[in-house]
Amino acid sequence: MPLLELRALNKHFGGLHVTNSVDLALQSGEIHCLIGPNGAGKSTLFRLILGEYQPGSGDIYFAGDNVTALKPFARIHRGLSVKFQVPGVFKGLSVRQNLETALQRLHRGAELADEIDRLLVFLGLEAEQGQAAGNLSHGQKQWLEIGMAISLRPRLLLLDEPTAGMSPEETHATGEMVRRLNADGMTVLAIEHDMAFVRQVAQKVTVLHLGQVFAQGSIDEIVADERVAAIYLGQAHA
Ligand code: ADP
Ligand code: MG
Repeated sequence: MPLLELRALNKHFGGLHVTNSVDLALQSGEIHCLIGPNGAGKSTLFRLILGEYQPGSGDIYFAGDNVTALKPFARIHRGLSVKFQVPGVFKGLSVRQNLETALQRLHRGAELADEIDRLLVFLGLEAEQGQAAGNLSHGQKQWLEIGMAISLRPRLLLLDEPTAGMSPEETHATGEMVRRLNADGMTVLAIEHDMAFVRQVAQKVTVLHLGQVFAQGSIDEIVADERVAAIYLGQAHA
């Protein structure tokens, strides 16, 4: 049974068919990357999976249950977590306080402090724990966001362009974080443009184009696919 399954999912914005009959299955334990030109409908698909948007038609199954009618909080409760593109950290609070707001839903007292320490080490932010989150570098803010997103120990983590604006070193460090989360049992679906990152983490790649699943396969199959190269070339010349 797939952990996540999208069946014939459709979403229109006015006359724009942004999600067009999307079928997608994610196996438990995999790292799957979603790529595609700007405007392909990738972020919209994440908002449909979370339940921020309702599809015009089609169904979403999570761990075997049809969750299409569930509100976002109910999906989160079942083990879904999403990190969107725009960092949503509390700028005025310290790094540690940010993690505390997220983790206190699950932990108390000494256990809470231990969990925060553990997460700070994982994120490479121990030295910054007392700093206001607003003073972090762009990459560090993204890591703090990932920390918030994994605080409830989701079964499925969705990441929307987690490495946007990062240096190659930061991008690689982010890839290693994703691989470690996956080794601990987390299933990951990541929207990415950075092909080095995709190569580093992806076990499977899906290409979205004009709201449709355009191609699917291993990173090597996708990179070798001339049809895929053509849609990116089309964008570069647009
Ligand atoms: P991607 O993340 O692949 O770049 P998006 O999912 O953000 O693409 O957007 C896909 C298309 O849907 C774009 O043409 C975008 O303008 C449109 N779109 C996204 N959200 C909305 C919305 N809330 N209302 C109207 N159009 C939208
Ligand atoms: Mg997007």
